[in-house]
Amino acid sequence: MNLTLKQYIDSVNDWSLNVKDVINHYINKAKEQNSQTFSFVRFHEDYVSSHIDDLITKPLHGAPIGLKDIILTKWYISSCGSKMMEDFISPYSATCFETLEKNGGLMIGKANMDEFAMGSSTETSYFGKTINPHGIDRVPGGSSGGSAAAVAADLCIAALGTDTGGSVRQPASFCGIVWLKPTYGRVSRYGVQSMASSLDQVGVMTKTVEDAGILLKAISWHDTHDAQSCVEADTWQEPKYKNETWKPKLALPKEALGEGLDERIKVRFIEMIEKLRDLWWEIEEIDLPIMGYAVPMYYTLMPAEVSTNLARFDGIRFGLQDDTTKYKDISEYYQKVRSEGFGEEVKRRILLGTFVLSSANYEWYYLKAQQAREQLKADFSKIFQKYDAIITPTTPTLPGKIWEKINDPLTMYLEDMYTIPANMAWIPAMSVPWWMIEENGEMLPMGIQLMCDKWEEEKLLELGWVVEKLK
Ligand code: GLN
Repeated sequence: MNLTLKQYIDSVNDWSLNVKDVINHYINKAKEQNSQTFSFVRFHEDYVSSHIDDLITKPLHGAPIGLKDIILTKWYISSCGSKMMEDFISPYSATCFETLEKNGGLMIGKANMDEFAMGSSTETSYFGKTINPHGIDRVPGGSSGGSAAAVAADLCIAALGTDTGGSVRQPASFCGIVWLKPTYGRVSRYGVQSMASSLDQVGVMTKTVEDAGILLKAISWHDTHDAQSCVEADTWQEPKYKNETWKPKLALPKEALGEGLDERIKVRFIEMIEKLRDLWWEIEEIDLPIMGYAVPMYYTLMPAEVSTNLARFDGIRFGLQDDTTKYKDISEYYQKVRSEGFGEEVKRRILLGTFVLSSANYEWYYLKAQQAREQLKADFSKIFQKYDAIITPTTPTLPGKIWEKINDPLTMYLEDMYTIPANMAWIPAMSVPWWMIEENGEMLPMGIQLMCDKWEEEKLLELGWVVEKLK
């Protein structure tokens, strides 16, 4: 069937498809084929049957959507890919889920993810790894790998995920679909389990750029429950998409073509730049040295926030619980519960974060990284005074083999070198599939990343739409 969100909505509106047949088709397909990719950790048929009649009357008409398991849903387990949250049922739902419901999006299941969104391969999930539909032994990227694989395998029409350093764009690139991470403050983070609060944003994962616009509009909302949600979230300009006379000016940072970039991706990326120049788009190479510092900045600031945010999982207020009388004291209890509940990658980041926040190291690491982040924001904002957008490949590498990099965290961390700056600068960014590259008989996708200034999602969508059509 492989419907886009736009096709689904149009077909329901003109009565050419029976809405319940389509929804049932997707639910049955997702359940039957889930074992091939393990995109979903859970399906919610009870939710579907109790909500379907109401949702099909709304603008998205009950379009089947996958929800990353970090987005809390009242009455249903939200496990964040972790043993710590294995049975956790939240007393309330995330605002983005509620706005999705208000607009008629139907959650068919919870998508697999790296534990607490920490990872780039969806291998750190406590519930098992997800597989990229484009390669039998390839990772789908992460941490929103379940959502990406579900959309790429057409197990749902679109999905929601979260992006702290690239977790929507990197898996999108690996799975050959579109992802949009909006401006920080456009989509409420209320009810989304925090990883690093100053970087986290909910994003949309779709088959086309137009779909990304439709879904983003459905979850954009100024929410007073989230102190960093902005009033601008309520203003939405429909992209025009057919502006043939528009000649945007794009910046291409030289740093994005340097060390670490797979030569095959580079060749295809340059080819695409030439095609855009043929359309009379102005694309200038610029120096943006701060980009080279984004990964170390991120791996200083993010773990600091992780160690603070995850402190609440102590086996008393939240998280795995045990009989406290078995333990000599509270410290022994905490130690047991946190050692058992968290996986290796999460523990690594808690340790790193606790280290950079300790009084002896705070000024050397955390404070310096904060200062560097301010510099990065200033440098990016200067670029947007002159250019409409920044263009880079989405990832420096193609999807790797399962277990290939899991024991080499530093190499894995570098996969986010192009995506992290947008989270640091709070700007919107999008990944659009560009080319399939052959490796050992498998055709593997690569993506193009576009970044615009804050609140310029409309422009971002229009640019992405052109890139998508150039393929
Ligand atoms: N891969 C990055 C990390 O592991 C980004 C994760 C994310 O965006 N949630 O931190």
